[in-house]
Amino acid sequence: MNMKLSIVVPCFNEEAVLAETLKRLTSLLQQLIIAGKISDDSELVFVDDGSRDNTWPIIEQASHISGLVRGLKLSRNQGHQQAVFAGLMNAKGDATISVDADLQDDLNAIPEMLKAHAAGAQVVYGVRKKRTTDSFFKRFTAEAYYHLLARLGVEIVFNHADYRLLGRRAIEALREYREVNLFLRGVIPQLGFSTATVYYDRAERFAGESKYPLGKMLALAWQGITSFSTTPLKLITALGATISLISVGVSLWALWVRLFSDASVPGWASTVVPIYLLGGLQLLCIGVIGEYLAKTYIETKRRPLFHIEVDTSAAHDLNKSP
Ligand code: UDP
Ligand code: MG
Repeated sequence: MNMKLSIVVPCFNEEAVLAETLKRLTSLLQQLIIAGKISDDSELVFVDDGSRDNTWPIIEQASHISGLVRGLKLSRNQGHQQAVFAGLMNAKGDATISVDADLQDDLNAIPEMLKAHAAGAQVVYGVRKKRTTDSFFKRFTAEAYYHLLARLGVEIVFNHADYRLLGRRAIEALREYREVNLFLRGVIPQLGFSTATVYYDRAERFAGESKYPLGKMLALAWQGITSFSTTPLKLITALGATISLISVGVSLWALWVRLFSDASVPGWASTVVPIYLLGGLQLLCIGVIGEYLAKTYIETKRRPLFHIEVDTSAAHDLNKSP
């Protein structure tokens, strides 16, 4: 039997592109069904992320016309990551592919993703070949950001946005992550499983404007760092330790000046030494508190400790069934 595919599309005020997106995705899905690659109960899941324009009426109407289209309306604007997550958690397919509504991600990568999935990959990343369609500013900041994340120890796939295939096992594993501050690009690599990469060219937005103004982009970037790295807190400890050491040196020097030279001003050493020493010690203490805070922070996420990729007893069960 063919596998069932769910394509998840987050939409926020996308009335300008939606008709075209619906047309292209529907025809792609039909082609795949005819080619026998996916089952005919596959679905297009459009998630309306609290749009204030005609997005929802368009989705609703399309769902009446085509049996392939399914609409999910979020109660308010929750943001891109949450919209994708909502779609994935409600998708019924054996595999899901998340793709933006604006047709920037080349849909031709979808058959390749399916091929990689059929060959055994639970997670297939769509990765941009070049960033020529982005402005210099966006390209530069995005690449610098990926480098920074890597330096901070956050596992991330370079030049991969949220265009990816997830198999059923990966979706169920993802369900166990209950974090409120969601950064999917950071969570997915933590799942593990066998992965594959499909390269594609990123086009210009088909119509409409970016729903990611600078403010939202910076918020997502900050989310990526603070949700996955406690390195900034560790840096405070390191800074505190360094300043403490330097302050001990300065104190010794001040004492030396006081005892062995007559260049010292009365009251100078007793004023300066405590300032350095206490400053350094305080920073060190904040750093130590930060380390504990980091541990508490990680514990509160209650991330799953493992995911089982293969269980051989499942194969026995399969053999037993008629
Ligand atoms: N989006 C969303 N909620 C938001 C912002 C964006 O669901 O609050 C959707 C949007 O409709 C699109 C995808 O997220 O399908 C990516 O947004 P966009 O194309 O505007 O981002 P960009 O490509 O400019 O980074
Ligand atoms: Mg876009």
